[in-house]
Amino acid sequence: MRGRRRFLGQLPAAGALLAAPATLFANPMDKKKLGVALVGLGGYSTGQLGPALKVTQNCRLAGVVTGSREKGLAWARDYGFPETSVYGYDTMARLADNRDIDIVYVVTPPGLHAAHSIAAAKAGKHVICEKPMANTVAECDAILAACKQAGVRLSIGYRLHFDPLHEQVRRMARTREAGAFMKMTGGFAFTMGRKSWRAEKKLAGGGPLMDLGIYVVQEACMASGATPVAVTARERPKKRPEFFLDVEESIEWTLEFADGASCEGFTSYDEGRNDFRAEAKDGWIELRPAFNYGGNRGATHRGPIEYAAVNQQAVQMDDFAACIRDKLPTRVPGEMGRRDVAIIEAIYASAAAGGRRVAVGN
Ligand code: NAD
Repeated sequence: MRGRRRFLGQLPAAGALLAAPATLFANPMDKKKLGVALVGLGGYSTGQLGPALKVTQNCRLAGVVTGSREKGLAWARDYGFPETSVYGYDTMARLADNRDIDIVYVVTPPGLHAAHSIAAAKAGKHVICEKPMANTVAECDAILAACKQAGVRLSIGYRLHFDPLHEQVRRMARTREAGAFMKMTGGFAFTMGRKSWRAEKKLAGGGPLMDLGIYVVQEACMASGATPVAVTARERPKKRPEFFLDVEESIEWTLEFADGASCEGFTSYDEGRNDFRAEAKDGWIELRPAFNYGGNRGATHRGPIEYAAVNQQAVQMDDFAACIRDKLPTRVPGEMGRRDVAIIEAIYASAAAGGRRVAVGN
């Protein structure tokens, strides 16, 4: 299966362009591309979003917001945008004066997503907010309200909605060719070796459920085509309580859907897992690994899934830019991010209540 994968038609030069100098984009065609400013130049911006913005067709990197001006200036040189487009977190209001920047992509820890997304909206910029949308539903509501008030668009960094392998899940859910998916299981977990904001409730909103488990929740909603009505959940005993002071280390949960479908989910910072399976009356689909940036594999009752690999982040950002330009709805709107945080809040409420069934709030 692997050998037959290739990049999609619109990205044939993706691999080559990844290594191309930024000056390649200093051409008149760039004027048609929407300008993106990344907020937070950590691992995801550096490893995925920045490189993806070197191969995007509808948008380009036009600025950054960072705590380190030196780092920002290095990005300006690398990506070919002016030094005046390097901002600090406390100068985000000045983005309002920068006509090169159309979209602000918030890539800071979730506890800061609301402040940074609202600052971007107030500066009149469209917003992409990384997952999870925020620590709480209340914060999600504040982001949604700010974007509405400013008249700007909002989307969430749910890259898997732009991956052809995951499109197979949505297609089978839509066509019901094997029947409705009634029994689902999934897990996403890794061992956290060194302490980071991901183990701090204030910045992460929770533990691995916020960071990794959200992918399983997302996939179950894709496969069922619905939002769960209720959840039950249990936190597993901590093996390293000194590491995970105010967040869970491992948690398992069950989502219940109105049609009787269910999904058993698991996430942890103490072991490895990366899979999703959905079963219907006349067939099934299984992804393993399921949630990586690339190299995911899938099979259905018919056999292995052949698919053309894409740069998920490039397709995601290009799609949002096209949605803005063509005034079309995004398939990953802020409301979807809020929905997932509401499901997660219900999972935490159930775990805190010893596994009691908790309805998913509106
Ligand atoms: P990271 O720790 O590597 O980077 C976080 C950035 O935020 C850093 O540049 C850091 O300096 C900055 N920051 C600003 N204020 C901070 C503060 N008070 N404390 C800590 N950092 C602060 O994290 P990351 O892996 O880049 O994750 C950032 C966001 O991107 C998170 O929301 C995460 O869930 C999301 N993410 C998404 C994916 C995906 O596949 N969609 C993958 C990785 C990360």
